[in-house]
Amino acid sequence: VDTERLLSVMTSAGFSYSDDLSAVGLMIVNTCAFIEPAVAESIDTILDFKAENPRAALVVAGCLPLRYRQSLIEVLPEADLFVTPDQIDHLPRLILEKQGMVETAEDREREVPPAEPPRERSTILPTPRTLTTPGYAYLKIAEGCSHACRYCTIPSIRGPLASVDPNDLENEVRFLASAGVRELVLVAQDLTSYGSDRREKAALVRLLDRIQRVDGIRWIRLMYLYPDGVKSDLIGMIRDSDKILPYLDIPFQHVSDVVLKAMGRPWKGDRIRKLVETLRAAIPAVVLRTTFMVGYPAEGEPEFHELKDFVTAYRIDRVGVFSYSAEECTRAYALGDPVPAEVKEARAEQLRSIHASFIAARNIERIGSVEQALVEGVSPETELLLQGRTWDQAPEVDGVLYITAGKAVAGEIHSVRITDAHGPDLFGETV
Ligand code: SF4
Repeated sequence: VDTERLLSVMTSAGFSYSDDLSAVGLMIVNTCAFIEPAVAESIDTILDFKAENPRAALVVAGCLPLRYRQSLIEVLPEADLFVTPDQIDHLPRLILEKQGMVETAEDREREVPPAEPPRERSTILPTPRTLTTPGYAYLKIAEGCSHACRYCTIPSIRGPLASVDPNDLENEVRFLASAGVRELVLVAQDLTSYGSDRREKAALVRLLDRIQRVDGIRWIRLMYLYPDGVKSDLIGMIRDSDKILPYLDIPFQHVSDVVLKAMGRPWKGDRIRKLVETLRAAIPAVVLRTTFMVGYPAEGEPEFHELKDFVTAYRIDRVGVFSYSAEECTRAYALGDPVPAEVKEARAEQLRSIHASFIAARNIERIGSVEQALVEGVSPETELLLQGRTWDQAPEVDGVLYITAGKAVAGEIHSVRITDAHGPDLFGETV
């Protein structure tokens, strides 16, 4: 569920937001359930929230209820209400309908029953995510996916592609710009399919043209492009725009023909190589992000070596590596899970370390350059530093920029001179 939307639905209904768990009467855990580790993390977060504040009502929202439906009620008695993504607009009503769910002032005066001991957790929990960060916002332009990658649970959980009306998106962008948002991060399961459920041609390009005209928006970042959907009209638009960042997130997953075919990704490795070359020739400043999956059932040593060679030769700027997770409701489940977990992890580690070695060197070359950066505020690491992101660092997935000197306004884009680099992170001062 889009957290901005969730926040807006709740605040419009008169609820106010706090990230101090001990002080709230109602907690909402926004869950992901695409793969087993995400399910485990969601459940752990729910248990952790309940342990932190046993008296508050607990709503579990998002894909966990969508994937497991009724069976969750038995498994998670800690939750008072489950809401699927399509019910989010009705959440305030559902809460009020569920009598006694939210504690009243009279309830609070009654004696507090002793808290149940917390249940055992299986993973370390992330800290609760703050709902708004100065300067940027996610814009979800579609839900669901109509592709058929064999390893993927998303089509069965979220259903087929359903694009959001472009008029609604433009209105949302105007609202966000008026609220001070400078960077829009466009997301969907596949941005390039936008509008194809309504049989619209070039709908993404037309949408981008509309939203880049909105005053106040300075950066538009495109996350999750299907490799086959990156066509010349989109490339030309990115090249010619001063707002659409030449930063493209295109999950390749693999480059071996054997693995791609077994994954149900309808192209060959050479098409990916050609796409990278075309993008780099057309947009010299382009920064590419991708994800690779290792340990898929069809991936033997030769296939993994082909992937490793690609990572070494093509030096994609940002790389995320995941180990294959066999999921019951996918077609790949029938292939079994023949690659042992330790082999998967070793392969993932090899790719990460190849990538880390050249990305650190590339960042060091940037020392002395002046770059545009969005300042997000005081660093969570230390109050002595400001933190932000240069244009080629996407929120939450890339490195960050620490600002060690100079003045800046949180939520605004500033010029920053890069003074140092450590791994994926940069250091700089405003100029
Ligand atoms: S394109 Fe992405 S969301 Fe759609 S089926 Fe493939 S992996 Fe899943």
